[in-house]
Amino acid sequence: MRCAKEEPPVSSEGFRSGFVALAGRPNVGKSTLLNRLIGSKVSIVSPVSQTTRSVVRAVDRSPHAEVVYLDTPGVHRPRFRMNREMVRAAREALENVDLVLLLVAAPDGLGPGDAYMIRLLQEAKPPAFLVINKIDAVAREKLLPWIDQASRRHAWEEIFPCSALTGEGCEALSAGIRKRMPIGQPLFPEEFLSDLPVRLALAERIREQVLLRTREEIPHSTAVLVEEIRRDEKGEYRVSATLLVDRESQKGILIGRGGEMLKSVGQAARGEMASYLEAPVHLSLWVKVKKNWRDDPSMLRLLGIATHR
Ligand code: GDP
Ligand code: MG
Repeated sequence: MRCAKEEPPVSSEGFRSGFVALAGRPNVGKSTLLNRLIGSKVSIVSPVSQTTRSVVRAVDRSPHAEVVYLDTPGVHRPRFRMNREMVRAAREALENVDLVLLLVAAPDGLGPGDAYMIRLLQEAKPPAFLVINKIDAVAREKLLPWIDQASRRHAWEEIFPCSALTGEGCEALSAGIRKRMPIGQPLFPEEFLSDLPVRLALAERIREQVLLRTREEIPHSTAVLVEEIRRDEKGEYRVSATLLVDRESQKGILIGRGGEMLKSVGQAARGEMASYLEAPVHLSLWVKVKKNWRDDPSMLRLLGIATHR
């Protein structure tokens, strides 16, 4: 699973790297577009996240650019009323990315459901593209007045009509995104990228089990670091992971009386991992106190949590 390939030297001159938040109502085609944009590279379907942190969803590394797509808290407006913390986190997240893509579906148009997002964009003022997806499903003559109308709703940097399904317009969008990224070094080491999807997927399996069993401060103070994924000669996986918490008291809760809690999290997560990897999994799970792990950029990178600039 490790990629030992030497990375070609990258001069900071021509290389661009940055963070992109992908927003839009359910079913507008966000997942389909992401798969299209990153091709066969790294795609992570991130399950429901209850945190207020941005999580890396996919990374598109090409010879001259690295684009990190984030799942940004609170930008997909949940059905239930959001609390103030979520709204604040959403605004902050949007202020800290290099670009926001607001995806809408051409057959539906820009509707009341997008008003919330446009309001956030107007408050946080990040550069934003409007991406009009599913153009394969509408007549061209309907599209033009629609685009004209949408262009007046917000000061979009650019508007891209495309079809994530057929690929039409996706190259132009992809080039437009790269061009918008600031000049800078790659954000993640190659080895990290090659492991990223599996690592994050496994970490999510563990985090889900913690979320199911704990409440209040624990879910927000716990991070899961998948340290090793090894496949043995029998085809079975050995996974080591650590639950990072802020305080001793939280460690106590996660371990539980006589280790019950940790055992139960581990057993359930192992089952989920085995069905994800389609092979038996042996999981070693540890709990460590690491004060202020949230403020440690290298830790956040290891966790696949973006460190915004
Ligand atoms: P998400 O909820 O925003 O992630 O949307 P999905 O990517 O899951 O897509 C929702 C549905 O729209 C799926 O059935 C997709 O196949 C479909 N879809 C996505 N992109 C397009 C497109 O460009 N054209 C058409 N016709 N359907 C699309
Ligand atoms: Mg989706």
